[in-house]
Amino acid sequence: MLSHNLGYPRIGSRRELKRASEKFWSGKIDREELQKVARKIRHENWETQRAAGIGLIPSNDFSLYDQVLDMSLTVGAIPERYHQLIDGKSNKELDLYYAMARGYQRGGLDLNAMEMTKWFDTNYHYLVPEFVKNQQFRIYSEKVFLEFEDALQKGILTKPVLLGPVTYLLLGKEKEEGFEKIDLLENLLPVYTSILKELYSRGAQWVQLDEPALVLDLTEKQKHAYEIAYATIRKSVPKLKILVATYFGALEDNLPTAAKLPVDALHIDLTRGESSLSALLKHEDFAHSTRQLSLGVVDGRNIWKNNYRKSLDFISQAIHVLGEDRLMIAPSSSLLHSPCDLDFEQDEIILTPEIKNWMSFAKQKLAEVVEICRLAGTDLLLDDAFIENQNAIESRRESPLIHKPHVKTRLTAVKEADLNRQNNFEIRQQIQLEKLKLPLFPSTTIGSFPQTDEVRLLRANLKKNELTLEQYEVRIREEIVSSLRWQEELGIDVLVHGEFERNDMVEYFGERLSGFAFTQNGWVQSYGSRCVKPPVIYGDVERPEPMTVKWSAFAQANSQKLVKGMLTGPVTILQWSFVRDDQPRKDTAFQIGLAIRDEVVDLEKAGIRVIQIDEPAIREGLPLRKTNWSAYLKWAVDAFRLSAAGVADQTQIHTHMCYSEFNDIIDSIAAMDADVITIETSRSQMELLDAFASFSYPNEIGPGVYDIHSPRVPTVDEMVLLLEKALKVIPARNLWVNPDCGLKTRKWPETEAALRNMISAANLLREGVK
Ligand code: GLN
Ligand code: ZN
Repeated sequence: MLSHNLGYPRIGSRRELKRASEKFWSGKIDREELQKVARKIRHENWETQRAAGIGLIPSNDFSLYDQVLDMSLTVGAIPERYHQLIDGKSNKELDLYYAMARGYQRGGLDLNAMEMTKWFDTNYHYLVPEFVKNQQFRIYSEKVFLEFEDALQKGILTKPVLLGPVTYLLLGKEKEEGFEKIDLLENLLPVYTSILKELYSRGAQWVQLDEPALVLDLTEKQKHAYEIAYATIRKSVPKLKILVATYFGALEDNLPTAAKLPVDALHIDLTRGESSLSALLKHEDFAHSTRQLSLGVVDGRNIWKNNYRKSLDFISQAIHVLGEDRLMIAPSSSLLHSPCDLDFEQDEIILTPEIKNWMSFAKQKLAEVVEICRLAGTDLLLDDAFIENQNAIESRRESPLIHKPHVKTRLTAVKEADLNRQNNFEIRQQIQLEKLKLPLFPSTTIGSFPQTDEVRLLRANLKKNELTLEQYEVRIREEIVSSLRWQEELGIDVLVHGEFERNDMVEYFGERLSGFAFTQNGWVQSYGSRCVKPPVIYGDVERPEPMTVKWSAFAQANSQKLVKGMLTGPVTILQWSFVRDDQPRKDTAFQIGLAIRDEVVDLEKAGIRVIQIDEPAIREGLPLRKTNWSAYLKWAVDAFRLSAAGVADQTQIHTHMCYSEFNDIIDSIAAMDADVITIETSRSQMELLDAFASFSYPNEIGPGVYDIHSPRVPTVDEMVLLLEKALKVIPARNLWVNPDCGLKTRKWPETEAALRNMISAANLLREGVK
């Protein structure tokens, strides 16, 4: 049984790549210096994997920015607008690369970056390939060869990793009409075969072609593309061993396609697609071939220790049918989505030894893969490593740190009625109209105000004990009061307290809820140099005490106007954390929902009459396969409703969404039944409103009238125009006026100017209606 790995994190265990990239972009280091850091990370990664005993180690899994961008450069899919940066000199290659990744404003040129979007259902983002009709391809970047050679010089015969041709095409976007991207396969395949031939001639024995699109819904034409692609590849390099890697889900209806591919090995993800194993073992074409099966038993996307018992069960099922020689063992997916190394977590106060003992990061996952291979043939009951592993699993199953009977009891007691407000929206709207006395086209903002260096320093100094809690709170109160005065002066109708006390909208709540742990160094790449450090939800979640009431009550006490309470919703908290794998996501979402519900009720008790529960990540949780959408949307919507429904009709519940398109889930958004939703639309010129032509959104809504992602101050006219557009499909009494997201990344002067214009736009609109 051969152990192998699909890919290793490339940010460096101390985020070296992030630092070096950012220094390079700001001109503080040169290209050689950057490449030196990159090379060092690659070497360390290879060494780490070799030392762990991994049989087949990947290369070309490293990337300076993104592996899909690398692929576009490898096959020369460079959009027209960047062609002026191609000049054949290798010292310019990085300019082109980063221009595609981040845009280019220099020497009179102003080139947009390529679009970025989520990599399947992970929180990693890739750069979307752009295709034109009859797109031509050629080998442009030699990266895959250079990295292979580099490893070879270190004495490591690696398995180069490339994104497979079908998935590569399917991830791209047609930039003009009149063709389908999959039709480009014919043009693309000769480049792939040349690359593979070249790798073979340089001594490669194995190549990994990633085809995660095999876990998506595919058309017959797309399935057929797989047959053509791999038949062509097989013919061109008959002796090179090809491993096709699928991950993030089960093969399901694509299984017959995958099982027949004329390749040497197929990798399946057993952490998210368990059903593929028995189906493949039963599949004649596969079982009776000589193809190898790579079992992805160690979760590449979470931080929990592998349960060796479970992995070994999969292996023995497979050995039974295929025999040991036809098996390979690996993580489920690339380890790109795991933090680097648990050994860096040395602060026992931040991460207690008990919780740490349940966890495993990328480096530890390598050891797990190797250990599992070894255990497959031994007497388990006598094996110390196995016993130790099972003890850790057992302690997680029973630990009172995790399992709180009263939380579970409360969860099972949730009933349908808990998901419903007292009355339906029409009645609530009437009551709120009378009680809240808001004008037509009420204005508000989304929650946060600019996080100045000064505000950040306050939080940092509190953490370092350079400020006492008392001193810190005095300063935060000052910030709140001055922002209230400022909002009143501008004439905003529903004020916010500004979120100055919050580092991050999920972390802030995670730190105040039980069942959450944090790491010091558990960074995962989100895109380019951007990394996130998700909280770890390890146990039953409850709210030991109010989390935001003090600040919101203080703010409300300091203004005659309404001040919104501001919370993060259960689905977003779930989505942006590492979650438990020992209970369904739904249960965790509901536990968080109950905790937020308690906070909502307490805010109401404290006199807060408008409460916003942000759910920007609701769409991100959508399963990869359409058939699973409705089940997810049902519980996601219910978790939100659970968090919101504990208050009286007169309390106005808002929600906020951003970062994605919502048109195709608009009915679920309506089902959340928030009294008001503020939603991002301005970047697409209110494209969202198209959905309203066929679906009349029942509740109040504030489609963002300006894009907060840019420092540009929008004019009054622009915003009036957008609002008028909105009025065509939204009844006047339901329309709110607001920016499209929180303002924490902006500076004060532009924020003030933009909001001033926004209020003028609202006033003009009111005059128009009178
Ligand atoms: N209330 C949050 C803020 O304004 C919402 C952030 C978000 O939608 N991502 O910062
Ligand atoms: Zn937002």
